[in-house]
Amino acid sequence: MVQATLSTARSALKGLRCRECGETYDLAAKHVCEDVCFGPLEVDYDYDYIKQVVSRETIEAGPNSIWRYRAFLPVETDNVIDVGTGMTPLLQANRLAKRLGLKKLYIKNDAVNMPTLSFKDRVVSVALSRARELGFSTVSCASTGNLANSTAAIAAHAGLDCCVFIPSDLEAGKVLGTVVYNPTVMAVKGNYDQVNRLCSEVANSHGWGFVNINLRPYYSEGSKTLGYEVIEQLGWELPDHVVAPLASGSLFTKIHKGFNEFVKTGLVEEKPVRFSGAQAEGCSPISQAFKEGRDFITPVKPNTIAKSIAIGNPADGIYALEQARKTNGNIEDVTDAEIIEGIKLLAETEGIFTETAGGTTIAVLKKLVEAGKIGRDETTVAFITGNGLKTQESMAGATSAPLLIEPKLASFEQALEQSHSL
Ligand SMILES: *Cc1c(COP(=O)(O)O)cnc(C)c1O
Ligand SMILES: [Zn+2]
Repeated sequence: MVQATLSTARSALKGLRCRECGETYDLAAKHVCEDVCFGPLEVDYDYDYIKQVVSRETIEAGPNSIWRYRAFLPVETDNVIDVGTGMTPLLQANRLAKRLGLKKLYIKNDAVNMPTLSFKDRVVSVALSRARELGFSTVSCASTGNLANSTAAIAAHAGLDCCVFIPSDLEAGKVLGTVVYNPTVMAVKGNYDQVNRLCSEVANSHGWGFVNINLRPYYSEGSKTLGYEVIEQLGWELPDHVVAPLASGSLFTKIHKGFNEFVKTGLVEEKPVRFSGAQAEGCSPISQAFKEGRDFITPVKPNTIAKSIAIGNPADGIYALEQARKTNGNIEDVTDAEIIEGIKLLAETEGIFTETAGGTTIAVLKKLVEAGKIGRDETTVAFITGNGLKTQESMAGATSAPLLIEPKLASFEQALEQSHSL
């Protein structure tokens, strides 16, 4: 495999930095500004150094995975876990665009991400690479489903011990897609927010690497690669408008950070990009705050089929809110019925079967276009983050059944005729 061309002599990592007060910390497994304000910590880089060693050419010569952007990722060595995550298709969605009344629409298709068919493979590939550098032998997570799939799979590949925590009412595909890798799985009788609270306590008492708790500053950086890939796949250009789902709000804010970093290091020309976020009505704390003009999030109790994005108390909610407002975007929510319609619309027009989170994104995209909040001429990218085969129960009764026939030509002809008259 081709190695990233960045020299190993030095990494661009500077340290952790508090998003609220700017206090700096060393590069440990730490996620809150415990000395000053309890704000979230973010990874800080030496961008002048990155600018010196990275160009479009060095990136294009790198591996066909997220690790082509290693200079921008929070690892210190070349010894990363590369399971082929990233470089998913950016599909020009002409038929869907036409249906919605847009000129140029792209689908960033992480429904086919590797190894577990969701965008979470990005954050976990990065988090576990860093966990290994920091010397963790057991990794863990609080998950709404996809994260457990990714953590269990990539930990198996890397030979790390793994214990994951999920709400006990998850879809069967998400559960099987975790247990097959044979980690320890705790199915918690409660919702995600309760699982997360429990995991914070376990992280304190067990010294494990929780990808989305004590390793969160590293983990969340993995989502930046969605932004980098879109720029590269658009021919080193920024789009006009982004539509992405919001759970904790992390993915949404990190696509933005990824765009900014490529501008800052001279890899792409600056232009304004509008960011619009998608939530399910049954768990829409960020959307509600946006619509009511609030600058704080009121936690909610989730009740929606879009379980993978059902976070009632979103950690990065206020940053997502601020980003949508500052970029002249929107945050919108849709009903479960609209989510199902969104899944079917994407499948029928583009041949992509996404899960409920993707249905949410497509339904919000449609709603925003219809409301005139996305312009017909805006080059728009919709981020499809998960695969429909994992949430099959949500489609019960929503599609037509196959036509059952005898193994005889006459039976086929009869059924075909009947289907045409439907
Ligand atoms: C986790 C997840 C998201 C969004 O996650 P954030 O917490 O907002 O970063 C979106 N789609 C799918 C399918 C997910 O699993
Ligand atoms: Zn602080």
